[in-house]
Amino acid sequence: MEAQRKTGNDSRKIISLSIGDVGGPLPRSAVWALRRAAARMGRAGSFHGYPPDGGEPFLRDALCASYRARGLIFRPGEFFVSDGAKSDLGNLLSLFDPALPLALGDPCYPAVRDAALLARRALLPLAQNPANGFQPPVPDRPCLIYLCSPGNPTGTVLTRKTLEATVDFARQSGSLILFDAAYRAFLRDPLLPASIFEIEGARGCAIEVGSFSKAAAFTGLRCGFSLIPEETGIAPYFARRQACRFNGVAYPVQCAAAAVLAHPKELYPAIARAQKNADRLRAALEEAGLSVYGGENSPYLWAKTPRKMTSMAFFSQLLSQLGLAVTPGSGFGEGGEGFVRFSALGREADVREACRRLRGIAFS
Ligand code: PLP
Repeated sequence: MEAQRKTGNDSRKIISLSIGDVGGPLPRSAVWALRRAAARMGRAGSFHGYPPDGGEPFLRDALCASYRARGLIFRPGEFFVSDGAKSDLGNLLSLFDPALPLALGDPCYPAVRDAALLARRALLPLAQNPANGFQPPVPDRPCLIYLCSPGNPTGTVLTRKTLEATVDFARQSGSLILFDAAYRAFLRDPLLPASIFEIEGARGCAIEVGSFSKAAAFTGLRCGFSLIPEETGIAPYFARRQACRFNGVAYPVQCAAAAVLAHPKELYPAIARAQKNADRLRAALEEAGLSVYGGENSPYLWAKTPRKMTSMAFFSQLLSQLGLAVTPGSGFGEGGEGFVRFSALGREADVREACRRLRGIAFS
């Protein structure tokens, strides 16, 4: 969604650094898998109808193998394939009594907040800001806990210490953690936790949600998964929910997802491009005098507005003065006020042009 409108007194093309969509293209292995699957579907002898509710066995096996490669052993039946992490997060929340509050970072990925609000579930915002190093405190009562790392919108990562404290709290209080790993592929530091299940004790109190959207450019194809360990006792309920309200992910899409898992190196160039974009943006924003967070292990950068401007005022200034569209932080919760989010997921040429426009600007 690159806006092509012209700004009032500026004839330059507007560059969008605001969106969470990816520029593509799909990895080659995914394209070939889609073609082969479509050909199979076009022959009577190899046609596939309704897919199994929890996912094709070959994709559940491939997910198992991808976790095994990280030293995390699960059974295929603990994986539930879906049409994306966003659906899963809302659907998982719907299993629990609406009287149970949802603790979530403030700021936070708004779809989760809104899914909770639609179900009239109370929210317990957990501050995530520069003062606490973007590490949310543990909640003060039993609840559902949504954690996202690398995080949207802040682009920061939860440390092992934070995850250990939250798992301890969840175990002691009978709370459940929903861990959103949609941006895991962008982690550069191998010492940072890439899965909640790297934390001892998490299997009894956590569910992990993953996505093919950002790393493999599946935003248009739609595929994700939930990993629900047997120890949580929740899998049978989710299986029932899916059997009742979901008819599975298209067979060709599941073939493409399995192909991506079989060829992880194919994703490296797109991830490296986003990382390079993030590095470039960070350097340009810091040179312009802004305090910038995130972006090292994530495609998002979180910048403090200059001179105590509101998110919307700084958003308007960037748009009118430089033709740059970013995302005002206030849309991600009260804690996002006073920040804006830059996305590095777009085209390299756009990021270069954005950095060129930022050159010579001094915001503070
Ligand atoms: N989780 C986070 C933190 C996101 O930012 C997004 C999309 O922007 C999603 C999940 C959605 O992922 P999917 O495309 O798999 O539904």
